[in-house]
Amino acid sequence: SFVQSELLQSLPKQFFASLVDKVGKVVAQGHDVINLGQGNPDQQTPPHIVEALQKAAANPKYHKYSPFRGYSFLKEAVAAFYQREYGVTVDPEREVAVLFGGKAGLVEIPQCLLNPGDVVLVPDPGYPDYWSGVALARAKMEMMPLYSENGFLPDYRQLDEKVVEKAKLMFLNYPNNPTGAVATDSFFAETVSFAQKHGICVVHDFAYGAIGFDGQKPISFLQTEGAKDVGIEIYTFSKTYNMAGWRIGFAIGNESVIAAINLLQDHLYVSLFGAIQEAAAVALLESQQCVTELVALYESRRNAFIGALQEIGWNVSAPAGSFFAWLPVPKGWTSERFADLLLEQAHVVVAPGIGFGEHGEGYVRVGLLTSEERLTEAARRIAKLDLFQQ
Ligand code: PLP
Repeated sequence: SFVQSELLQSLPKQFFASLVDKVGKVVAQGHDVINLGQGNPDQQTPPHIVEALQKAAANPKYHKYSPFRGYSFLKEAVAAFYQREYGVTVDPEREVAVLFGGKAGLVEIPQCLLNPGDVVLVPDPGYPDYWSGVALARAKMEMMPLYSENGFLPDYRQLDEKVVEKAKLMFLNYPNNPTGAVATDSFFAETVSFAQKHGICVVHDFAYGAIGFDGQKPISFLQTEGAKDVGIEIYTFSKTYNMAGWRIGFAIGNESVIAAINLLQDHLYVSLFGAIQEAAAVALLESQQCVTELVALYESRRNAFIGALQEIGWNVSAPAGSFFAWLPVPKGWTSERFADLLLEQAHVVVAPGIGFGEHGEGYVRVGLLTSEERLTEAARRIAKLDLFQQ
């Protein structure tokens, strides 16, 4: 057998792999396990998008290689979508890049902009794929702690000045995985001035951009004055249109970053199957009723689940966006031991906060990705453990 490269060996360990093993054991014992630990949407792609793919797949023009940098009709649809949804104007050819899902873009960007040893500011807790991107670029992570007192927004004034001076790139993600927090206009305005002052490129991960509750539509980073000068946004079809298996997304914003992504991708791939690009354009341009219905479904699950937990005396707050709830663990427990307890005694799977970074300790993450009935059943089983004072 061959030895893996030092680069591959340097990649961060996949924390959640061990959770999958633990869950497998409990399922194998024949228990009815309610899995709230993952982030895989349970709903289907809306039928009109599937039909668009089926029809386009029969078109011989798509059986050849696609244009390297994606079809122009898709980039124009993206520009029209941002104009319509956020009032943001972009040049479809120079300010949009087609991606094989959001994850691909997030992992590619550090390789596009960084040299070995460069510093990247990463939210903690945060989505672990940022760590992979930084490691593949042989760059260095510096964590920005997110605290509930600040609405899980980083406080730039608390960061070490020496670190900030060295930073070249920063990841942000609102609505946030894992905390469910959303960003404010003033926070994004502060982010633009911080990035301008220190010459940092901002990568805003807008994977949950469509999912905001209580009538609040999450804001795009590009709505902020000057945002395009300092960064880009990553958007994916996975959550908004339940297309996680299709692997399509896009980067939008700063022209020089888009050019760098395009150049890297020229060396890695030819663009996605054209029929997928055509169906994705249909998703962006046609009725958004499916999105409205999806958000209402998550909101009603959120209300039922959070309400049920509050009723048993668990002091949890409702997420403002995303499809995750971020629940404080009871005193005396680590997130991993508490997740083990819920798995073993209630057969309920939650993701331990420590898997999202050091500052995720003290919480577990729950995905609202099963029926209201199963979510309230999970709350009922947790109630039986009698962990919370009424
Ligand atoms: N960003 C965040 C915060 C996510 O949670 C996910 C998926 O779980 C992604 C990006 C990537 O999504 P995809 O690669 O399916 O576009």
